[in-house]
Amino acid sequence: WCQSVGLVLSNKVCVSKEGTVAEYGMLARDDIEEGEVLFTIPRSALLHQGTTKVSVLLEKERSSLDGSSGWVPLLLALFYEYTSPQSHWKPYLSLWTNFKTLDHPMFWSKEERDRLLRGTGIPEAVDTDLANIQKEYTDVVLPFIKKHPDLWDPNTHTMELYTLLVAFVMAYSFQEPQEEDDEEEEEEDEEEDEKAPNPPMMVPMADMLNHVSNHNANLEFTPDSLKMVCVRPIHKGEEVFNTYGQMANWQLLHMYGFTESYHSNSNDTADIPHHQLLQNIQSDMERQLVEEKWEMLCQIMQEKATFVFGKQGCLTDTELHTALKVLCMSKEEFSEFKDDEGWEEDEEDDEKISLAFCNDGVPGLKTSWRRLIHEAARLTVRSYSKEGEAVDSDQTLIENQARLSSRQQRALQVRWGQKSILYRLMELTK
Ligand code: SAM
Repeated sequence: WCQSVGLVLSNKVCVSKEGTVAEYGMLARDDIEEGEVLFTIPRSALLHQGTTKVSVLLEKERSSLDGSSGWVPLLLALFYEYTSPQSHWKPYLSLWTNFKTLDHPMFWSKEERDRLLRGTGIPEAVDTDLANIQKEYTDVVLPFIKKHPDLWDPNTHTMELYTLLVAFVMAYSFQEPQEEDDEEEEEEDEEEDEKAPNPPMMVPMADMLNHVSNHNANLEFTPDSLKMVCVRPIHKGEEVFNTYGQMANWQLLHMYGFTESYHSNSNDTADIPHHQLLQNIQSDMERQLVEEKWEMLCQIMQEKATFVFGKQGCLTDTELHTALKVLCMSKEEFSEFKDDEGWEEDEEDDEKISLAFCNDGVPGLKTSWRRLIHEAARLTVRSYSKEGEAVDSDQTLIENQARLSSRQQRALQVRWGQKSILYRLMELTK
């Protein structure tokens, strides 16, 4: 099938189920240099709303398919191609006989998710996903497929299959990056709404590669084809790893159903909800003043609800800097700030702020700021445990992981990775 669709595979690599981290993966059969192309896929072999057999209909009825996720056209295409014996992509899609290897938290029971992933942000994200999937299927997909009984059948194309395909798209699809010119324009005009991301598509062969943060290959998009290119030397026998993006463990578990070990995932992060920063301040200041400051901060930070900390420091440094500055202002300073005088001249440059909020800079922050961060981190660590539970029982679990089930292990990697970042932050702000 690969040959018939014009997919060219270097003879230095092969697809294998042995010697890989998870099921299928790609292995080097020979030493590979940086810059070498491992395979090339012509755009005509990609499966998406523009290449599927039902593309004309999807285009014609585009307006009725504007589901909130933007994934509906691909999911309808997959519904059709996955169940059609004549599908051009049949040999590719038959690699997945039932999708039962997918084990995203959306397939765990709610009780299991809430128990194992409390505090990580995943249970809330999954609840939202499941509600959206159900709504999208009922409101958009089902009426559409009922209108076209020659192509789809509600008895075959069920909500259950739809949910499996959503997880498949989450874990196997690719999104073409936005063109650079567009991004520059966007940056120039910050007032403008962000452009919607490109719709997802299925990329045969590229989706056989597993991910690690320290990857050795990367997918490049050219006008005619997509190429998997080696980005650092790979030795014979080693696995070829793609990158799915800079993914924290909670994102990997939520979207792909797996985690990296917490110490090797250099992209791991922990979130501190904004409101945790307030907890320590309320007792020190007049309530009304705090409320006014908070209202203003909510406007400044719009929908963003958390401060994000990576292994090297705060990733939302500008927001954290603003919040600390405003929260620690005296009544007089705040009323001056509200009048909008002084903010512009006062504004420190981005580079200085990012240095101040990286791990090396944090111990040098003002005592009042460190105290607020410390308390917010401490409260966030506590939110992983139920009342009365020991806060750091995960430390014991991490040393005895082998006894845990696969789900327990993956959940522990997420929890402990996040807590380690928060404990480190508490040390730095002591
Ligand atoms: N291994 C997949 C297969 O056999 O179909 C091919 C990669 S597919 C794009 C993504 C899925 O591979 C993920 O949902 C996860 O199940 C698995 N995966 C990828 N990288 C992994 C890793 N580093 N550790 C464990 N599982 C991984």
